[in-house]
Amino acid sequence: MFQFWDKKQLAFTLVALLAGAVAVWYSTLYAQRVAVAELSGLAQDRLLLYESTLDAALNRDRYLPFILAQNPEIKALLRQGGDPGDINRYLEAVNAEAGSASLYIMNARGITVATSNWRTPQSYMGHDFSFRPYFHEAMRGGRGVFYGIGVNTNLPGFFFSCPIGQDGHLIGVAVVKVELQRLQKEWREGGETVFVTDQNGVIVLASREEWVYSSLVPRDAQALAAIQAQEQYRGVELSVAPARQGQRGAMTELSMGQERFLMGSRPLEGLGWDIHFLEPAHKVEEQGRAVAGIEVVVLLLLALLFFLVRDRQLRRQSRRKALEAQRMHQINQQLAAEVEQRRRKEQQLQETQQELIHAGQMAALGQMAASVAHELNQPLAAIRMFSANSQIMLERGQRQGVRENLETIHELTGRLAAVASQLKSFSRKSAGSHQCLDLRQPLHHALTLLGHQAQSMGCRIDKIEPPEPLTVLGNAMHLEQVFVNLLQNSLDAMAGNPRREITIILRRANGWVEAVISDSGPGLSPEALERLFSPFFTTKGPGQGLGLGLSIIHGIVEGMQGEIRGENLQQGGACFTVRLPWRQDA
Ligand code: ADP
Repeated sequence: MFQFWDKKQLAFTLVALLAGAVAVWYSTLYAQRVAVAELSGLAQDRLLLYESTLDAALNRDRYLPFILAQNPEIKALLRQGGDPGDINRYLEAVNAEAGSASLYIMNARGITVATSNWRTPQSYMGHDFSFRPYFHEAMRGGRGVFYGIGVNTNLPGFFFSCPIGQDGHLIGVAVVKVELQRLQKEWREGGETVFVTDQNGVIVLASREEWVYSSLVPRDAQALAAIQAQEQYRGVELSVAPARQGQRGAMTELSMGQERFLMGSRPLEGLGWDIHFLEPAHKVEEQGRAVAGIEVVVLLLLALLFFLVRDRQLRRQSRRKALEAQRMHQINQQLAAEVEQRRRKEQQLQETQQELIHAGQMAALGQMAASVAHELNQPLAAIRMFSANSQIMLERGQRQGVRENLETIHELTGRLAAVASQLKSFSRKSAGSHQCLDLRQPLHHALTLLGHQAQSMGCRIDKIEPPEPLTVLGNAMHLEQVFVNLLQNSLDAMAGNPRREITIILRRANGWVEAVISDSGPGLSPEALERLFSPFFTTKGPGQGLGLGLSIIHGIVEGMQGEIRGENLQQGGACFTVRLPWRQDA
């Protein structure tokens, strides 16, 4: 479905995954923290509620000992003794009405003298409770509060005591016992986890019955001794709940066996006790997990969306690239066709140029024909004369003269052969191949071809050239044609002039080899200067010139990476400069 990933995309994906993981981890923590804070608030609310129910249960009957302490009959019983029957019945009635566990009166020694449970087997009558702290507290004139397990009943409860005094003397103590079994039952039925610890950390009330009388903290020996002396938890094995505690936000994390809780606590005013509300810790984890789950789903959806968009982009991109490639292919094909067309045209042009060069050669050849005929004529006439002369000498037996004549004839035929070979090579269509050659060579040949014509016109030719070779890369035949054309033009131009001089300078200058050919003719006309190298420009009459010579040699020189220019000399006459790149002698 998706395109293949490159390294950059892979790195991006890894970073995104990492960032996503960190985000999920952090928000899970944050969600848990928020959940703990919410739980803490909830726990405080619940604790307030529980505290008020506990307060209500305790305070409902707390005032009863005070009322009893005012009773004159009870005081009389304490002072004078006698039958407690009436008092017992009275206490029984009040206890039944108030709903307290028991009501009883102790004398100043701690012996129970009247009690509401006088009828029951657990009756307190005659029992000594002087070891109980609430007795001592009351006998010191204060109000005693004590929580403990009843010695007779074995039922836990709160003991509230009040001193009974007469004439400035404390004569006894009135006590009410309030049992909290009902409250505990209500808590249990409420389904929440709540418990109360006393000042020693012993759980005295709990919505879970199995926790009662266990302690969250191990007690020291002193605390244990005090508990035993007061017989506070008589007949009960005080255990230590296997709990581990830690702090989590505003709550305490508590592990009890397999269970983990978050606990909020609150001190109970006046008792020195604490009330604790517990919520299962997994609620927090669940909230964190829920947030993480939602986040993972959202991130996955985002990632999916991203990949879908990216995939669409990539597809669009690759479609565009394919179209571009197609277009490029078409353009390339078009270009290739154009190049091929151009190449063919160039080839045609080259062929045409070669044809032109050849035509130029032929034209020059035609021009030269007359002078060549003259050139051939002279040695031929001489040969004829020498051969006739030899015949006569042979008849006369002058063998020496004949030998000399034959030698002269031999020389003359050599000259004829040289002229013929020059003409032949000049008219040959060159293949146009370039090679390293000494520029003095083609000039020499051109001068040989035109020497006679110049001589017959009375033209002086001055040639200045260095002794060492002037190497250029070019075609010998073509260069010869360049010189023949230039020299022929000069000769033609000087035909009507009394002074006929041509100066040829060959030299090396700045990486070039230069050939400067100047004449004493009339120079180039302004029109000629403007169209010098244009084909078919000529000032010569019909049959004398085609106007191709300079155009052809311009092509030849450029073909050899050279330059040609024509100008007029100050003193009059035309001057042509041909420059070709100098080659180090191979
Ligand atoms: P053609 O010789 O057939 O006329 P070219 O291309 O060789 O053709 O020369 C073109 C023209 O340039 C000539 O007709 C002539 O007018 C002018 N020209 C060339 N060389 C010289 C020169 N040395 N002096 C004066 N004019 C010249």
